[in-house]
Amino acid sequence: MLNFTVGPVQSSDNVRKIGGEQVPYFRTEEFSNIMLENERLIKKFSNSGENSRVVFITGSGTASMEASVINTLTREDKLLIVNGGSFGQRFAEICNIHELNYTEIKLESGCKLKSSDLEPYDNKGYTAFIVNVDETSTGVYYDLNLIHEFCKKNNLFLIVDAISSFLADELDMQKYEIDVMITGSQKALACPPGISVIVLRENALKRVQNTNPKCMYLDLKNALLNGERGQTPFTPAVGILLQINERLKEIEKNGGVESEIRKISSIANDFRNRIKDLPLKITSESLSNAVTPLSPLNVSAYDVFLTLKDKYDIWVCPNGGDLKEKIFRVGHIGDLTIEDNDKLILALKDMADKHLL
Ligand SMILES: *Cc1c(COP(=O)(O)O)cnc(C)c1O
Repeated sequence: MLNFTVGPVQSSDNVRKIGGEQVPYFRTEEFSNIMLENERLIKKFSNSGENSRVVFITGSGTASMEASVINTLTREDKLLIVNGGSFGQRFAEICNIHELNYTEIKLESGCKLKSSDLEPYDNKGYTAFIVNVDETSTGVYYDLNLIHEFCKKNNLFLIVDAISSFLADELDMQKYEIDVMITGSQKALACPPGISVIVLRENALKRVQNTNPKCMYLDLKNALLNGERGQTPFTPAVGILLQINERLKEIEKNGGVESEIRKISSIANDFRNRIKDLPLKITSESLSNAVTPLSPLNVSAYDVFLTLKDKYDIWVCPNGGDLKEKIFRVGHIGDLTIEDNDKLILALKDMADKHLL
């Protein structure tokens, strides 16, 4: 199978090889050193700064979304949540469960965030802003310059879910003054699912020390303390952390985060240029390099997903809910090449010839 989803995605040969080995015991100096190196490289690639820290949570991206919320926000906060799709909705649900005081900025599917969307909330006593910078469900990438300016003016604590965007789009935590950034192992990190990552800058670390979440497993105070020596409070997904280490070193060796972003962007642009004659419409006003959301003009989007899977051995991402028949998504992250695009384009052209597209 050729995998063009947004996660889990294809891994490099070296990362896959580690998956076939025995999982080592982890309360050792050797494993601690690997974890400290993981922290150092994530800090470097997110430009989070000297005094920032990284926590590795065993759990998918959603675990880190919830951990970030309950460890840095309290009922005294007044939150703004950008909700343009199912991942924005998920933040609203998390805040609802934890009885936090939030307002949703609801966006139509496919629409970008504009300054007029933020205006009503300017100078209204808000204290924090939560956004999925790439709303992966609809493939909409929000403008970090706009968000940064608004947060700076209103002195808002900024949480950015960059789960599908980190390593695919530029993301500089110091430049945009992002207090918390979240990512996951199965997106552009191109490792198996199971680990998510939280990067905390100084303000966030202060907030963690002053917050008492009603949850033991996701208490970041404990994780941060253990992390000082390269350890975790509980048994982590050891094998995936070793794979993350291999992958981070590969990125470093290949020229760092800039060249990784360039690679993903060139694969995305190549694909987008080559579908211009096909009966497909791009449904996002503002694209991330990570994913292209598409609406077929003649057939059901879900049928395109099924045909590609069953007849051409290619996975793309279907959508759920109201968008199921309308939109499918092609991911550009993971171990993909231009030659892989050739195969997908060939399949789509063949489908068009057979009136399956
Ligand atoms: C994938 C993703 C998540 C997390 O999903 P999990 O299934 O919990 O890993 C969260 N936010 C965004 C923007 C994502 O793309």
